[in-house]
Amino acid sequence: MTGGYTGKYCIVNLTDRTTEVVEPGDEFYRKYLSGYGLGAAVLMERQPPGVDPLAPEAYLGFCTGLLTGTRAYFSGRFMVVGKSPLTGGWGDANAGGFLSQEIKRTGYDALFFTGASETPVWVRVGEDDVEILDGDHLWGKDIPETEAAIRDQLGDKKVRVAAIGVSGEKLSLISGISTDNARIAARSGLGAVMGSKRLKAVAFRGKKKVPVARPDEIKEINKKFLEAYKKSNIVDRITVRIMGLVSQVIARTGVAVPAQASLVREIYKKYGTSGLTTYSAMTGDMPIKNWGGVGYVDYTYKSAKKGSDESVLKYQERKYACQSCPLGCGGIIDIKKGRYQGEKGHKPEYETLGAFGGMLLQDDLDAIIELNEMCNRAGIDTISTGGAIAFAIECFENGIIDETTTGGLQLGWGRSEEVVRLAEMIIAREGFGDVLADGVKRAAEKVGNGADRFAVHAGGQELPMHDSRLDPGFAVAYQCEPTPGRHTIACYLYAGLFGVKKRFPEAKRMIKAAKGKMAKNVRRYTAASYYMQLVNCGGMCLFGAITSSLPVVEYLNAATGWNLTPDEYLNTGARILNLRKAFNMREGITAQDHHLSRRALDGSILTKGPNKGVKIDMESLMREFFGAAGWDMEKGGPTPDRMKELDLGRFAA
Ligand code: SF4
Repeated sequence: MTGGYTGKYCIVNLTDRTTEVVEPGDEFYRKYLSGYGLGAAVLMERQPPGVDPLAPEAYLGFCTGLLTGTRAYFSGRFMVVGKSPLTGGWGDANAGGFLSQEIKRTGYDALFFTGASETPVWVRVGEDDVEILDGDHLWGKDIPETEAAIRDQLGDKKVRVAAIGVSGEKLSLISGISTDNARIAARSGLGAVMGSKRLKAVAFRGKKKVPVARPDEIKEINKKFLEAYKKSNIVDRITVRIMGLVSQVIARTGVAVPAQASLVREIYKKYGTSGLTTYSAMTGDMPIKNWGGVGYVDYTYKSAKKGSDESVLKYQERKYACQSCPLGCGGIIDIKKGRYQGEKGHKPEYETLGAFGGMLLQDDLDAIIELNEMCNRAGIDTISTGGAIAFAIECFENGIIDETTTGGLQLGWGRSEEVVRLAEMIIAREGFGDVLADGVKRAAEKVGNGADRFAVHAGGQELPMHDSRLDPGFAVAYQCEPTPGRHTIACYLYAGLFGVKKRFPEAKRMIKAAKGKMAKNVRRYTAASYYMQLVNCGGMCLFGAITSSLPVVEYLNAATGWNLTPDEYLNTGARILNLRKAFNMREGITAQDHHLSRRALDGSILTKGPNKGVKIDMESLMREFFGAAGWDMEKGGPTPDRMKELDLGRFAA
């Protein structure tokens, strides 16, 4: 073994309460790295095809990044993996905080759970030591209460915990898994998988050193990186100050401003992701009014500003950064109103400010903060919860449902009190909240009467706060990636910010060989997606990748001692993407099954704004992407030849 990985993962069977430690060997890590690459390989090997994701036979994995614990910057994220009960295909979600390094310090690169306990349990993981404990006293507790109770029980304040809240316990298909009180691996509904195993929490504590092949080289890369990363220029600093004005000019003139990594960095450094709310709402990036409205018309500058930059900063008590992060976009806030008044919480992220703001035409920041806190404590995805509420409001406004359905709630755009109450009902699975707790696709099927036209999703997953009509790269990501409705892989904008063309000769060749603008854009997207597999499997943060030329290749070589070329790594990224897609094929998912809702492709409903009248030709985009990736449109994923080429022949369908 060289370095970067511990060389071991552990499988815990909750039915018969046994554990199995696997040492897959160096070649395995070269092929799949760690993170969800390792996770996909294990699930393909061990989980039977067609298994119900909430059945005991299903697997749930907690995976660290290959670079986690090596001191590489931005490398502190962990990934949960499993079959998604929301989309029926490959599911993964990741979160930052401090958990990932703690997992690795126990001596494991990943922990997998299969089987199911008859009664609630939690699992303590120490150095080469796994213990299944009674969790009756934790069941029903929210995330911070669960973490606190486990720390008390162990008498150890430094233990790191991953847990589900009540939403995961109640098998809500839009629930996630949280750590550090609120950092949630929210997408894909994997909280329900954990709930189905009656696994309330997993606590990690270890002191093992993560092996690194060339530690001095990591230090040197960090030094160089930080010198460049800390530089800020006057133009960016001024632009940050006048972002509101810039956004309005863009909104009214449609003039696109080229995005710069240094500017995004300046914004995140000062405000975190909340620094982009106004800009996104005004320029057509944030979907408004359940994808049927326009930023500067329906959700005015004044409204958007109430949930953006300085308005959010007024609540911030202190900034914080995840493990090994030089940016620090996180913040702890004082909650000033509502049921959590006087308590501390996490600063709402842009996705949450959009999902409970522009999507619902709500500009009451206190209500948004309360919703954020409720969802964080219950362990439910804010993007999906906002989407589900927007769907309910539109059904109500169009007479498809009424007060008899909603338990007396008079739903409407911008009605904060009703929105907070409906969120409570979703969390508790009470009344109509029970219908919404499994996402808009299933809710529309239950409501019927044409409600599906208001259900905006891809393959069952509610869409994030980035409008695919503005950046068609998001349409490719939402519909074609193995985890549909995902915004943290790539789009045309990110592909430019990643700089893939300059950094990977193969990416340059791919783009050069394409004919026409769309084909070139899709090729650039494809290379960006391969690159993001490396970022994710390294345990690295997307925000590092969009605010800098993240030295992923250099870090991987220094940590492992492999000395692979950029193109060899790009090929590894392609392998991991293909393996995750092959999982979907094995589950019988076709190219059409994860289709994107019409509203995300068609701007004819919009009266004004940059996305008015836009029509995305999804069929052509999909053909182009499938062609670039070596995928078969009929079968819905990689051809057997492509799988063989990537040394994945034994997983070919
Ligand atoms: S940029 Fe933000 S989310 Fe990413 S690692 Fe740093 S603090 Fe965490």
